[in-house]
Amino acid sequence: MKIAILGAGVSGLALARALVEGGLDADTLTLFEAAPVAGGLCRSKTVDGFTYDVAGGHILFSKDTDTLEWMKTAGGGEEAFVRRDRNTRIRFEDRWVQYPFENGLGDLPEQANFDCLAGYVHAWHARTKDDTEAPADFAGWVRWRFGDGIADHFMDPYNAKIWKRPLDQLTSDWVAGRVPDAPIEDVLRAAIGIQTEGYGHQAIFWYPKKDGFQAITDGMASALSTRIRLSTRIEEVVRKGEGWSVNGEDFDHVVCTLPLDLVPTFVPEVPGEVAEAMRGLAYNGLVSILVALDRPEHPDLSWIYLPQTAQGPANRVTYMSNYSPGNAPEGKTSLMLEITHPRDVPFPGSELEAESIDGLIHAGLLTKDEILFTDRSTVDRAYVVYEFGMAERRLAALEWMEAAGLNPLGRFGRYDYDNSDQCVIKARAMAAALLPKFQRG
Ligand SMILES: Cc1cc2nc3c(=O)[nH]c(=O)nc-3n(C[C@H](O)[C@H](O)[C@H](O)COP(=O)(O)OP(=O)(O)OC[C@H]3O[C@@H](n4cnc5c(N)ncnc54)[C@H](O)[C@@H]3O)c2cc1C
Repeated sequence: MKIAILGAGVSGLALARALVEGGLDADTLTLFEAAPVAGGLCRSKTVDGFTYDVAGGHILFSKDTDTLEWMKTAGGGEEAFVRRDRNTRIRFEDRWVQYPFENGLGDLPEQANFDCLAGYVHAWHARTKDDTEAPADFAGWVRWRFGDGIADHFMDPYNAKIWKRPLDQLTSDWVAGRVPDAPIEDVLRAAIGIQTEGYGHQAIFWYPKKDGFQAITDGMASALSTRIRLSTRIEEVVRKGEGWSVNGEDFDHVVCTLPLDLVPTFVPEVPGEVAEAMRGLAYNGLVSILVALDRPEHPDLSWIYLPQTAQGPANRVTYMSNYSPGNAPEGKTSLMLEITHPRDVPFPGSELEAESIDGLIHAGLLTKDEILFTDRSTVDRAYVVYEFGMAERRLAALEWMEAAGLNPLGRFGRYDYDNSDQCVIKARAMAAALLPKFQRG
């Protein structure tokens, strides 16, 4: 029995580990990974003693306590992690606004507070009393859900930075269930300055003491190291008898965690219309910029959102050295900026760093003389983009993959908006489903 797992990000690694935990002989597994290190989007990088996550700031949390414990164990156990209270804010001109935005209206300048509150009340009335239907497009949904004031002051400019396209080209179904509905009383309280609770979601998180978020996938990979072929790109997967030939080598089963949009480049038997659906799946990439600082401490913040254009192209800044003291040398601190990037466009040059730093200076977050250096990482695929037509393309792609027996798994392997814990949940579920088949031979 030989099983090929394509991709050694957290999905491929968790699947392999769960199969072995379920009793499968590790020698039956081969993981193929194009990069020189395992971990995929969970990777981290250390430069001159400063550590940052290469695909935006990553935190460990899960509503599923078993998964959380499983990931902590993989990353070295409770002792290997720092436990943090989440403390996030929105930077609005020179103010700190509580997150979520509708719970922080009282932190806004008076006119913006009024615009947001009036809009919220109108929208709330239309939604709950007139029973208006949620618009199918994201731009319309934002106004329906939050009102014109929050759309104008926060949601529209913030989302324009992330999605890099007109918001009416996006659907609203992906976000509908994700945004908790704040009770109207809380929004009113917040607007007149009475502190409200906000939501408990992600109130606490964990982060590895050393080596960044990648410590978790390093831990997963350590027991499998002889089974992982690094720097080995998948070039061709073709059916052979009952199984598959992967880069010319025979396997009985394949699990694919590689991006669905790339599948037609290495699986020649994908039919034309399915290949077109796969290639048409939309995503945005990401540039993560570490800013190493000669500053002994930060405010007690986890990360902040930058909705305003004058704050530069970054939409989010992570206080990396607050995640773990191990992320910066003694007496120094670091920030990390996230700038999304549209598909099929070359990444910008160093003007991006210059613009981003100017934006942070404008926002009052740092001064030029405290910057020690910057370092950049890019990933081609960071966010699934829910354009119209996406759900149909994704379904066609997944149905074909499943019928072919290529077992699609992972954030871009299934084009799901999954965090690493959800990848682990799905990988462990897949392991449980496949084990009987794999053990039968
Ligand atoms: C900005 C951002 C913030 C996030 N924040 C969090 C967070 O706070 N907490 C959290 O838990 N999750 C977070 N996530 C999500 C998390 O990063 C992903 O869910 C997870 O890393 C996806 O893992 P995966 O294995 O499915 O995919 P990937 O990590 O993409 O793994 C796929 C692997 O396949 C390899 N590969 C690709 N093509 C080939 C080829 N042709 N041949 C061989 N190998 C190939 C890649 O190198 C990669 O290693 C965040 C993601 C982003 C983008």
